[in-house]
Amino acid sequence: MNDVIIIGSGCAGLTAAIYAGRANLKPIVIDGFEPGGQLSLTTMVENFPGFPDGILGPDLIENMRKQAERFGTEFKAGAIAEVDLSKRPFKIATAKDSFETRALIIASGASARMIGLDAERKLIGYGVSTCATCDGYFFRGKEIAVVGGGDTAMEEATFLSKFASRVNLVHRRSEFRASKIMVDRARANDKIRFLTPFAVDEISDVTKNGVENVTLRNTQTNETSILPVEGVFIAIGHEPNTKAFRGQLDMDENGYLITHDGSQTNVPGVFAAGDVQDHHYRQAVTAAGSGCMAAIDAEKFLGALKGV
Ligand code: NAP
Repeated sequence: MNDVIIIGSGCAGLTAAIYAGRANLKPIVIDGFEPGGQLSLTTMVENFPGFPDGILGPDLIENMRKQAERFGTEFKAGAIAEVDLSKRPFKIATAKDSFETRALIIASGASARMIGLDAERKLIGYGVSTCATCDGYFFRGKEIAVVGGGDTAMEEATFLSKFASRVNLVHRRSEFRASKIMVDRARANDKIRFLTPFAVDEISDVTKNGVENVTLRNTQTNETSILPVEGVFIAIGHEPNTKAFRGQLDMDENGYLITHDGSQTNVPGVFAAGDVQDHHYRQAVTAAGSGCMAAIDAEKFLGALKGV
C-alpha cells in the first residue's frame, strides 16, 4: 500500500514528486509512455526561471528527476494499462506491475498531435516545434511555416509574426476551424501568408539536422511544391492523455480533466496537475506550479485520512 502514486514524469509529475518526497510520502512515479514529457522533446528552454543562460529541456528534466530521487521517489517504467478509482485504495496497473494507493496524482500530460512524418519526430527541437511560446524567439528574422487551421494555429502564427520575417500558415483545407475573429486577425497581419489547401508531405533535411524546406501538396490537385523555410511549427492540436480515466473522472469536451479547489478532481483523493488539466497555459513553469499544488493537496488529504 502506497500513500501517493504519481502518473507521469514530466515537469508536473516530477515537481509533485519533489514535494511529496519532502513530505515523507515516499512517492512512486510511473514514467508513462513519454518519460520526461514534452520538455524531453525540446532543446533550449529559456523561459524557466532560474536559468539566465537557458537550459536544455532534457537536462532540466534530468535535474528534476535527480531532485525527486534525492527525496525518496521511486520510479517505475511503463504506461498505465488499467485504473480503478471506484473505491480506495485506488488500483493502478501497468503491463508489469500493479499498485494500490491512498492518493493519486495524475500528471500524464497532453501530447501534441503530429502530422505523422518521420522527419517531424527526428527534427523536433531542431527546427520543428510544437510550442510557439517556447521556441518563437529562436526564429528571429527567419521564414517559417505554421501548420494547422484551428485557433491554436492562428494564435501561434500571430505570435510568431513578432519574430519571424514571414509566417506561412499552411492548412489542408481552404475553410478554417478557427473562430472568425482569429482568422481575421491573422489575415490582417501582413507578415502572415495563408497557403491553402496544402498538406505538408515532407520536411527536409534530416541528414543536416535542421529544417531547410517543406514539401507542400495541394490537396485538391495533388501537385507538389517546395517551400523554403527554416522552421516548422506544428499547431494541429493536443490530445490529453486521459483515456485510462474515461468514465471515472470528469473531463471537458476535449478530454481534459476538470479540477476544482486547486488540483482536486471529482474523486476525493485523486488530484491532477499539468497539461492533463490545462489546455490554456501549457508552460513548464505552470505545470511545475500545479504539480506542487497537487502534492500539497494530496498531503493534506492523507493527513485528514490519518487524523493528523
Ligand atoms: P483544433 O480546433 O482541433 O484544430 C486543429 C486543426 O489542425 C484543424 O484545422 C485540423 O484540420 C488540423 N489538423 C488536424 N490534424 C491534422 C493533420 N494530421 N494534418 C494536418 N492538419 C491537421 O485544435 P486547436 O487549434 O489546438 O484548438 C483546440 C481547442 O482550443 C479549440 O476548442 C480552440 O477553440 C481552443 N483554442 C482557443 C484559443 C483562443 O480562443 N485564444 C486559442 C487556442 C485554442 P481540419 O480543420 O481540416 O480538421
